[in-house]
Amino acid sequence: MSMVYDEYGRPFIILKEQQAKARVKGTEATKSNILAARSISNMLRTSLGPKGLDKMLVSPDGDVTITNDGATILEQLHVDHQVAKLMVELSQSQDDEIGDGTTGVVVLAGALLEQAEVLLKKGIHPIRVAEGLEKAADVAMQTLAEIAEPMDIAVNNHAALVATAMTTLSSKILHQHKHKMADIAVRAVLQVADLERRDVNFEHIRVEGKTGGSLEDAELVNGIVIDKEIAHPQMPKIIEDAKLCILTCPFEPPKPKTKHKLEIDSKEAYEQLYQQEQEYFRDMVKKVKDSGANLVICQWGFDDEANHLLLQNDLAAVRWVGGVEIEHIAMATGGRIVPRFEEISAEKLGHAGRVKEITFGTSDERMLVIENPVNTTAVTVLVRGGSKMIVEEAKRSLHDAMCVVRNLIRDNRVVYGGGSAEIACSLAVSRFADTVTGVDQYAIRAFADALDDIPLALAENAGLSPIEEVAAAKSRQVKEKNPVIGLGMDVMNEADGYHSADMRELGVFETLIGKQQQIQLATQVVKMILKIDDVISMGPQ
Ligand code: ADP
Repeated sequence: MSMVYDEYGRPFIILKEQQAKARVKGTEATKSNILAARSISNMLRTSLGPKGLDKMLVSPDGDVTITNDGATILEQLHVDHQVAKLMVELSQSQDDEIGDGTTGVVVLAGALLEQAEVLLKKGIHPIRVAEGLEKAADVAMQTLAEIAEPMDIAVNNHAALVATAMTTLSSKILHQHKHKMADIAVRAVLQVADLERRDVNFEHIRVEGKTGGSLEDAELVNGIVIDKEIAHPQMPKIIEDAKLCILTCPFEPPKPKTKHKLEIDSKEAYEQLYQQEQEYFRDMVKKVKDSGANLVICQWGFDDEANHLLLQNDLAAVRWVGGVEIEHIAMATGGRIVPRFEEISAEKLGHAGRVKEITFGTSDERMLVIENPVNTTAVTVLVRGGSKMIVEEAKRSLHDAMCVVRNLIRDNRVVYGGGSAEIACSLAVSRFADTVTGVDQYAIRAFADALDDIPLALAENAGLSPIEEVAAAKSRQVKEKNPVIGLGMDVMNEADGYHSADMRELGVFETLIGKQQQIQLATQVVKMILKIDDVISMGPQ
């Protein structure tokens, strides 16, 4: 899919010859940029929140992705317009830094642009608008820091972490199994987390997907899971106290190079050569066995004859293991990668409590699980699902949840979701606007209105009447003040009447750094767009 816009931001199809040098200036330029950016945010707006809808994206070669993750949607769209691309990057940078809130940040930027457009129409200079927005953003950031509450994240208190991870998962395909998935995400992150340094190394967490089964079957494996099987069906499928020899050289006798010729002119000569090869191979197997290994992990293949010989020698083996997996296995089992047979020795072996081959249902698909390796900070989440699309979306969602848990380990302060934090900030920003006497106050008020767009979108996507709901929540926040600052849209509640509820009781949390990052990034991009007053595009030479 390729989106092309004219200078006013309207989508159209380009005919190459007509593309001459084009130029748009002044407010026209700003307006057309705003239009282009908003076409992106309008698209994502319906995906926000637990009741948000999914998008189906079809790539040129027919691969289908179904997702409601903002960053993933925008990544797959090939957006052409320069300013629309800024929105794509916006979502990407939220994803890189925080990992969650990628839809929210784009929706917020869109709302800010919508408000800014009104101000420009009124004749307020874009720079004044940008400055006003900046001041308002500062107030919003402060407010967030004030309403944030520290969360108890001791290693033995999972409940709080799980609740936050669940908020992230509630908008995803996984939401029916969100408790289990959140629990898996938390346990995986805590296993590899360095709580003293408040850091989590995601390299130690692998997420493997296998089509089949249901999302419910996802499990956390203490170790590594690779998509390979034991080379011979008669080799043992479970190897206790495994000692792994990790090879990156082929497990076969060396082949004569093509430029040398070997002439065999008699049966005896052939037999002799055959015997020699066998001897050579037996020697290789012996070297491995002598080192004490009981499992060979080989980056290359070996032929059936070699396979048979390994079986005869009681040596289990796995062939064609990819380079990345080899490294992971070596890291987890504490083994060294051996590039040449001469270098095999006992101290280079990796160790694991158990290696087993697992099968799935009635299919003949198999995977290899390396459990309890010496290095206990290696974990794998095995995700199952009815189709490849579901598995892929589940992997993405799980990644979001793990990012949230990691963010909490870095900074354990949380704010409340369901738009409640935005409403609280919006109220604070409006109060601040009343104290400003200059033209800036318009932009500051506009910022407050833009913040309301998040709860509005959440309510709208859940089929509620957005204006009434948000107005009710706002008035309750003003009246009841603390400690009901957590009042937001209870979009999961299907009863009649108003749906504002205390998000603290419902356990809908978001990380403070995630929310702050959203406000900061969205404001930055909007300021950048407002400051462009001349777009000169060169046609092809
Ligand atoms: P993002 O990609 O930005 O994380 P999501 O589609 O995951 O977007 O939606 C996140 C929004 O949904 C947040 O504003 C969050 O507070 C809200 N949300 C999540 N769970 C609930 C819930 N149970 N009730 C109300 N709002 C929720």
